[in-house]
This record gives sequence, C-alpha cells and structure tokens, in this order.
Amino acid sequence: MNAEQILAECRETGLPLSKIAVRRESAATGLSEEEIRARFDRMLGVMEKSASAAREQAVYSVSGLTGGDAFRYENYRGRSLLGETLSLAVACALSCSEVNASMGRIVACPTAGSCGIVPAAVLAAGRGLSREKLIDGLLCAGLAGQIIGEHACLAGAQGGCQAECGSAAAMAAAAVVEMLGGSPQQSFDAAAIAIKNTLGLVCDPVGGLVEIPCVKRNAGGVAGALCAADMALAGIRSHIPFDDAVEAMDRVGRQLPASLRETAAGGLAATVTGRALAEKIAR
Ligand code: SF4
Repeated sequence: MNAEQILAECRETGLPLSKIAVRRESAATGLSEEEIRARFDRMLGVMEKSASAAREQAVYSVSGLTGGDAFRYENYRGRSLLGETLSLAVACALSCSEVNASMGRIVACPTAGSCGIVPAAVLAAGRGLSREKLIDGLLCAGLAGQIIGEHACLAGAQGGCQAECGSAAAMAAAAVVEMLGGSPQQSFDAAAIAIKNTLGLVCDPVGGLVEIPCVKRNAGGVAGALCAADMALAGIRSHIPFDDAVEAMDRVGRQLPASLRETAAGGLAATVTGRALAEKIAR
C-alpha cells in the first residue's frame, strides 16, 4: 500500500481518507466500522489523559533526568508567543512525553518516544470539533503511519529519530488536515512536508533513556506537524510526493551510522554534558 494507491481509491470511491482507513482496517481485521471506531475512541481517551496529566501536576521521570516542564509550560501559556492552538499543542506534547518517561500510560503513535505529537496535534487543532472528527483524524494518522512502516520504518534504532518523531509529525499533519476538512491530497502533502522537514533527524538519547532530547523533540515535532498541515490547508503543495519522501526517509535511515540510531553513542548523547548525565544516572 502506498499513498498513490490510497489517493486513487479516494478518487474512485469519493470517500475521505478516514473512511478508506476504516475499510482497509476492517478488511485486515474483520472488525466492523463500529468496533474499529470504538477502539480508536479508547485510544483517544488514553491520549486525552496523558496530554493533560503532566500539565495539571508536575510529573518526573524515574531517572530524574526530566520532568516538570509540561506543568511549567502550562503555567506560562498565557504569555506564549505561539498563539492558543500551538501553545496548547506544545503543552500537550510535553505532557504525553513526560507521562511516558515516568512510566505512565500513553499511546505509542507510532512509538513511545514520539507519543506526544499525534495526540497534541489532534487535541489542539481539534478543539471545538466533534469526537467523531478527532477519531477521523486518528484513523488518517494510522494510515500514514502504516505506509511509512511498510516502506521505511518506525523505529529510532533502525532509521533514526526521523523514523519516530518524523513519522509522528507526518501522521499528525495528515490527521489535522482531514479533521479540518482538507482533501486526501492535502493530507498527504502535509505528511510529505512534515517528513521533508525532519529528514535525517538522528536518534541520540542521553544515557539511552527516552528523555533527552525526546521530550522536547515531541514539542518541536508537533509544531512542525501543525505548520505542515497549515501550509497544505492553504493550498501549498509538496513538490516531493509523500511516497517519495518516505523512500528518502528509508534511504537516509540506512545511511545513518549506528552511533546515530539509538545507541547513545553519538549526537547529543556523546556531548560532554550528555556523557556526564549518563554517568550520573548510572551511579
Ligand atoms: S531521540 Fe531516539 S529515542 Fe528519542 S524520540 Fe527520537 S527516536 Fe525515540
């Protein structure tokens, strides 16, 4: 399955991406549309909790390396430079990531390390929309993620952070466009732009823990996702189509040295401070 095939299916049937996602999921699992949507509704519930928990009360990771930033940012938000939607998205992304780092419950979308981007985009851009619309967005995100998983990868250890936070940003961008009434082509344009803007992003977690730089990369990832969605909704096309962007991500991932693929041997993990923090938590 690729985006070209999905877009052709949309053209033939006149159906939006979320309906195509349901049809395909139903064919693969044997579940009815109602059952599939109920499953996504349960995921949305988990996302809502993780996106608010660390904003309401400071949450810290088990290692003590990270925490408290979602709460800090939530209290600052009234003065944010970013406007209501983006500042809420940043706060939600920080919250999900901190909940993950504290071993709380999150939805890996596509992974635990990148778990803040899709919920933050869907919840912030979806304020005032029906729950059904948010579920449509998540279905769309799933479709984009499935294509990336089939043609590239979704793991930092395999493809670098572009495969985790980059994929999540693409999934989130596609979701937001669908939720806000954009066309299937616009969803894939947004997803392609998100991938292009994260291409080559390395995976370099300090001490091998999914905390530094992961928590803040989720905040940056949702900003990139919303920016990509906004451009696509404005009618800006991606010169490089989604399928090509995914192919580039796959190729770039294979070219990344092992030190930049979750081994904690390169990038930020290999800085003086990164190494010192790793030593501190190992003691
Ligand atoms: S830096 Fe690595 S571990 Fe952290 S979110 Fe990115 S891919 Fe995941």
